Amino acid sequence: MTDSARIALFDIQAQQALIRADLDRRIAAVLDHGRYINGPEVEELEGRLAAFCGQGVHCVGVSSGTDALQIAMMAEGIGPGDAVFLPAFTYTATAEVPLVLGATPVFVDVEETSFNLDLADLERRVALIRAEGRLRPRVVVGVDLFGLPADWPAILDICRREGMFALDDAAQAFGAALDGVRLGAWADATALSFYPTKTLGCYGDGGALLTRSAERAELYRSLRTHGEGTTRYEVLRTGMNGRLDTIQAAVLLAKLRLFEDELAARGRIGALYDSLLKESGIGVQAARSAGAVNARGLYTVRLRDRAERDRVAAALKAQGIPTGIYYPRPLHRQPAYAEAHRTAIAGGAPPLPVSEALAERVLSLPMHPYLSTAQVERICAMLIAATRG
Ligand SMILES: *Cc1c(COP(=O)(O)O)cnc(C)c1O
Repeated sequence: MTDSARIALFDIQAQQALIRADLDRRIAAVLDHGRYINGPEVEELEGRLAAFCGQGVHCVGVSSGTDALQIAMMAEGIGPGDAVFLPAFTYTATAEVPLVLGATPVFVDVEETSFNLDLADLERRVALIRAEGRLRPRVVVGVDLFGLPADWPAILDICRREGMFALDDAAQAFGAALDGVRLGAWADATALSFYPTKTLGCYGDGGALLTRSAERAELYRSLRTHGEGTTRYEVLRTGMNGRLDTIQAAVLLAKLRLFEDELAARGRIGALYDSLLKESGIGVQAARSAGAVNARGLYTVRLRDRAERDRVAAALKAQGIPTGIYYPRPLHRQPAYAEAHRTAIAGGAPPLPVSEALAERVLSLPMHPYLSTAQVERICAMLIAATRG
């Protein structure tokens, strides 16, 4: 790709050109065998993803990242009276699922540099919920925002101490690792999304659950198929229709061939952005731990304030450089969740100042494995010039 080529925020067409013949062959194979539901590609994919994670991880394909979160919480019996702690600065699906199940989301603030859960704030809110005694603290959902692993060793410590379930929303972070161990092996369960623009994406909706517990994997398989038992006509529990389509599994198998190279490219591009922005005064996402490998689902910077962010976005757009705002509003400010936020902690929830500030200041830059060095250099030069303009 040349410097003059169009720069995309995500580019899923460049990848398709590399694997088109394999995609056509694998999709044709599904058309030929006709097992559109639970076809052999689903099991093959599950095996490949489990092996990618290692550490005795099991993989269960499901219909989306959102459904992965829902199935994981249904398996723990989460419902009315249960508190589910999650960051206020994330995608809406993370908060939607506890509400769908009748549970209460408790929004937690995030750190300014990692954009991930602020653990002191998490502990404070768990203590408040316990002191009030109306809700049971049951789940912490850690989100690996933009691909950067949350602080899983510390989240697991808190969950073990408090008797809570640790659920990893790794929808943006498949491929990321911490201390040499991939996400999928850290939390009690890990939800993946294969939405087309995620680090591993299909051509529609898809997702998966990863867990080291064979019992949980079994439960997830039952829940994704209406709670079925060992025979198809035995219903053991209330489940849902949450399977991964065979055609999407076939697409993912074709894409897996490129996945490790794409992850390496994302890492290289992320490091190039970091180094080009180093002396600029522009804030970049940074891990607290040196052992964190960011899967670089998105590359997001922090500008001074909303005025600068909006000015920079317009200047880049004028240069043909697309940007995105993930996320323009923290979840506790969304009309759908404001009531839950107001009532979760009866004595009044502490403020969420970092989530609120980030919503005004963040800007996501083009990030995909097929960006050239020259393109990243051009984006950074324009970005730096715009902040000085
Ligand atoms: C994309 C995403 C989801 C939802 O995944 P879907 O496959 O679109 O349902 C959940 N959480 C986060 C953080 C996401 O980015």
